[in-house]
Amino acid sequence: MRHIPKAEVKAILPEDWNEKSTAALEKLEGVYANDPEDKRKISKTIDGNTLWSKLRAPFAKLRNNKCWYCESIIKRSHKPIDHYRPKNAVRDCSNHGGYWWLAYDWENYRLCCTYCNSFGKEETRGVAGGKGTEFPLWEEKSRQCTRGSCAGERPLLLDPFKKADTSLLWFESNGNVIPHPTKCEDTDGYAYKKAEVSIAIYNLREDDLKECRGTLCDEIETKARNSDKYYAKYLNGDAMAYEAWEDNLEFLSKAVGKNAEYSKAVVHTLMHIRNECEMANTILEECVGG
Ligand SMILES: [Zn+2]
Repeated sequence: MRHIPKAEVKAILPEDWNEKSTAALEKLEGVYANDPEDKRKISKTIDGNTLWSKLRAPFAKLRNNKCWYCESIIKRSHKPIDHYRPKNAVRDCSNHGGYWWLAYDWENYRLCCTYCNSFGKEETRGVAGGKGTEFPLWEEKSRQCTRGSCAGERPLLLDPFKKADTSLLWFESNGNVIPHPTKCEDTDGYAYKKAEVSIAIYNLREDDLKECRGTLCDEIETKARNSDKYYAKYLNGDAMAYEAWEDNLEFLSKAVGKNAEYSKAVVHTLMHIRNECEMANTILEECVGG
């Protein structure tokens, strides 16, 4: 998970977004006043279409079609926009009708893949998970059940809008993901629980995903280590070796970029070997900032 600065998202909203979202919410309030049980009306309020679907294309373009939760590039999908706080219902909280007042609030939207967004069973995915209407909190008593600010809630789901959240995951060299060993050191604490719950709900340990990350991490490590060999050859007068070194530099610089698939796992792969690999160190210092 990489940080998605809110300012970047705000800058790509359509010009009439505020006007339309305000009108949609007013309409929705009317629906709820008349028929509070019919939650499905949220998605039918705007002329049979959902207002947020207009944001799919610009949100996808912002990060090269990547899921904001798992960093997979989304291919052949509707590119769902997840409501971080679910709009219609909250799982395991039967008296909660969902955070309906945030249905048209862009700050509640996250672009994601269907594996992260929709709940799936073990038989179909190899592992049960997917967000669905999940929105667990550290303290259930702080849950906001009526229209109002949610600032008092401490969600157990990592949020790509929060830079501090995105550093709580740690990728191992085989592609597995765990809570960050030092930031989540206290296994009874909020940070550890938040990372663990997010890994499960966003399906981040799903077999195919883990394998994709693992294969990429192998490739990255090999290229980084080979680069040091090319560099040594260059110092001994092999001009061709410099070109090979430069190609690897370009490849690795792109792979740690915010638009590259699984870039956080790539960064961590380089961190694992930085003390023994000069290229890993160079990339981390120049492209990621140490
Ligand atoms: Zn995803």
